[in-house]
Amino acid sequence: MIDGVGRTIDYVRISVTDRCNLRCVYCMPEEGVPSIPHGQILRFEEILRVCRVLAKNGIRKVKLTGGEPLVRKGILDLTAELKAIPGIENITITTNGVLLEELYDGLVDAGIDAITVSLDTLDPQVYQSITRRDEAARVRRGLERAMREGRVPLKINCVPVLGVEKQELLDVVELARHHRVHVRFIEMMPIGLGSGFPLLREEELRTFLEKHLGPLTPCDDVPGNGPCRYYAAEGFQGRLGFISAVSHQFCDGCNRIRLTADGYLKTCLQYDCGAALKSMLQAGCTDAELEAVIRKALADKPKGHHFGDQAPFAGREEKGMSQIGG
Ligand code: SAM
Ligand code: SF4
Repeated sequence: MIDGVGRTIDYVRISVTDRCNLRCVYCMPEEGVPSIPHGQILRFEEILRVCRVLAKNGIRKVKLTGGEPLVRKGILDLTAELKAIPGIENITITTNGVLLEELYDGLVDAGIDAITVSLDTLDPQVYQSITRRDEAARVRRGLERAMREGRVPLKINCVPVLGVEKQELLDVVELARHHRVHVRFIEMMPIGLGSGFPLLREEELRTFLEKHLGPLTPCDDVPGNGPCRYYAAEGFQGRLGFISAVSHQFCDGCNRIRLTADGYLKTCLQYDCGAALKSMLQAGCTDAELEAVIRKALADKPKGHHFGDQAPFAGREEKGMSQIGG
């Protein structure tokens, strides 16, 4: 599919649930999180149907996300069924890793092509202060299993939120020295609760890392779906990456759409524009009607975000990251 400004859209991020077993401070409030009522969540048949229409229209890559995708019952069956859709070539998952140890083999057997684990620190106490849950050891076991077995490529997503020292980011980086895992730093995006946290810019972090690791050399040998820019460090098995939506806007090369857990096809992270597919599906629409609405939403996909603008503006997304899926 080509959008209104000529970009090829071949990637969909599907938030399979808005629920989560962690409460990261920059993503979800500690309490009072209203969950989407069961009847409004896309059923698996509905996700598969939308994906068949998307695949017919050029979507080739699927990301499973959430909330926490591994808490959705039946996620392994969904993975296998999505992978079997003609046209879908690549299916990956981003998880907090809490359930990875027990589900690793199931995911790989279901056809997952790569796994990303979100991990902001290796220090159990700091981990608990960021995620508000005592799950560091479980995540570590899941990660170690994934690194040891190495059946599919593995990445780590790390959001600097408390700063390089407090989060001991160098310890996270060291994982890429000793294992074939790519460690990616994501700039805090001013979406939902993320707006209340300071931004550590890529340049600042890269300077810090180079001081400790030596020069970082740009490289392009890591397959992926998106805007991450990778660097090689001397003596490292994995690469270090930066996803810097704020300091390096990458909207010109945007290749993605998002499907929220309640069936909204989102065409831009920062705006609430797109199409409410769940209500159409419930009303018994045809595939042709679905396709027409998706195409229209794509034609109107915004040219880019305005993360620099602090003032509220019309159409700004009010949903949090746990509802959008990152
Ligand atoms: N629960 C899964 C996880 O944490 O990997 C998947 C969903 S989570 C919303 C997807 C990614 O978004 C995670 O890597 C998380 O760290 C990141 N994220 C959440 N809020 C963010 C924000 N405001 N800015 C940048 N990244 C954010
Ligand atoms: Fe849950 Fe992921 Fe959000 Fe953390 S970042 S609260 S793990 S959805």
